[in-house]
Amino acid sequence: MNDVQFAVVGKGLFGSAAARHLATFSESVAVIGPDEPADRRAHDGVYASHYDQGRLTRRADRNRLWSEMTERTFTAMTELEELTDRTIHRPVGSLTVHAAGVIPRHAREWFVDESRAPVDVTHWDADDETWRDRFSIFSFPGGSVAYYEGAPAGVLDPRQLVAANLEAVAGAGGQVVTEIVETIVETPDGVEIRRRDGLSITSDQVLVATGSFTNFFDLLARPVPTSVESETIVLATVPDEIGEQLASAPVVSFMIDDPHIADIYMTPPLVYPDGRWKVKMGANTSVDHFPMSVSDSHRWFREGPESIDEFADVAAAMISAVKSMWRGVEFIEFEFEPCIITMTANDHPIIDRISERTCVAVAGNGSGAKSSVGWGQLGADLLARRAWPDWIDRSVLSAG
Ligand SMILES: Cc1cc2nc3c(=O)[nH]c(=O)nc-3n(C[C@H](O)[C@H](O)[C@H](O)COP(=O)(O)OP(=O)(O)OC[C@H]3O[C@@H](n4cnc5c(N)ncnc54)[C@H](O)[C@@H]3O)c2cc1C
Repeated sequence: MNDVQFAVVGKGLFGSAAARHLATFSESVAVIGPDEPADRRAHDGVYASHYDQGRLTRRADRNRLWSEMTERTFTAMTELEELTDRTIHRPVGSLTVHAAGVIPRHAREWFVDESRAPVDVTHWDADDETWRDRFSIFSFPGGSVAYYEGAPAGVLDPRQLVAANLEAVAGAGGQVVTEIVETIVETPDGVEIRRRDGLSITSDQVLVATGSFTNFFDLLARPVPTSVESETIVLATVPDEIGEQLASAPVVSFMIDDPHIADIYMTPPLVYPDGRWKVKMGANTSVDHFPMSVSDSHRWFREGPESIDEFADVAAAMISAVKSMWRGVEFIEFEFEPCIITMTANDHPIIDRISERTCVAVAGNGSGAKSSVGWGQLGADLLARRAWPDWIDRSVLSAG
């Protein structure tokens, strides 16, 4: 007899959501993974994509599948806020701005075929400047096109969402185990999950939800077709009174025209663990790279973007972009932080069965937080061999 019926390896956004879903119908669930490092510069374990206070949420997305997964996440966040007394999501709305003719990657299909829009979105063409009065705190180049999606679009706190999912797992009688897993071995009777501390847990079935580190350990019979990419953010501190004043501003996606940065995403000021209010802005940059191993990832998280030779131009572009977007806001300090994302060729996560006893749920493609509960639930249902929704084409989420 195995220790548990279902094990989930990885207690990030996908894994914690999957474990919570499993715990709603099974009394025998364990979720295993390390906590966030106390100090990223002196850490030798694994890192993750969710160590932050803010992730943008919106239902407008690449297609119905992504939107539906986000819808499920909104529903779960409301339930979890009631259940755990945590504040997870703030529905401040979402503003997308770009030059006429540019279609944002995250919303390509949706913007092209507006008849598929799952939500009400207000749209202003390049010759209509009226949106600027409504969002007068922001400044964008003349001739921009704008879209606004109202509540519940906004910003979620990924640390709170993970914590709430895990609290719900424990509350339902599931086990939350804080340890790295180094190897998963399938045996005739089940799965042996070997932890870094030398102990093992056995289960009937295992869901691997280990984000960017999935192919860096001996967890799967074959690697999943993902690529791992560095991501750089700037945290721009504002005075407390400005933070409080601007906290309800919408999240922003801005397709900037710049040689060093592209595809900006930005939150309103949020309170960070040091108690200060910070605007978080991220972007694709000209120095993004592809860590291929645990040691590459360690170097990136320990040393951060400042260790890259050509980073000065990117840093200047990021600071200039933040300053230019907020009208009349004084910033106190700018800090740069490293992060990592997991991508696939078709811009969808992999939610698939790899073998008789192992499933995988990975690859948020840079925007998986807002739909993480949906992806986690799909992975959990697959693991438990529950019915797969008719309208979801399994091949889109296949590991190949
Ligand atoms: C800078 C940045 C900004 C982003 N902005 C947005 C946004 O605005 N909106 C949005 O929707 N998404 C955004 N994302 C993407 C989103 O955060 C990810 O898609 C999401 O975190 C993916 O969830 P995950 O569970 O797959 O991976 P993760 O959140 O990385 O979790 C994986 C977990 O697996 C664990 N793990 C790894 N290896 C092992 C092992 N060997 N044993 C046990 N556990 C292990 C890790 O500790 C981690 O907890 C952003 C990402 C980054 C980096």
